[in-house]
Amino acid sequence: MALENFHCLRCNHKYKAEFSKKEWPRELTCPKCKSNSVRWLKKRAAKGAGKKDS
Ligand SMILES: [Zn+2]
Repeated sequence: MALENFHCLRCNHKYKAEFSKKEWPRELTCPKCKSNSVRWLKKRAAKGAGKKDS
């Protein structure tokens, strides 16, 4: 589990929540307005470069 960033498109609330990719897709609910119009702010993945930091 890791803390991921989420952004509610309805009330513009940004928050972090524990989230596992194994659970995806799942319905996300904004803790503020209870809307399910929540977008997962994925970290940008470099495409084509083939570089990975670890
Ligand atoms: Zn909201």
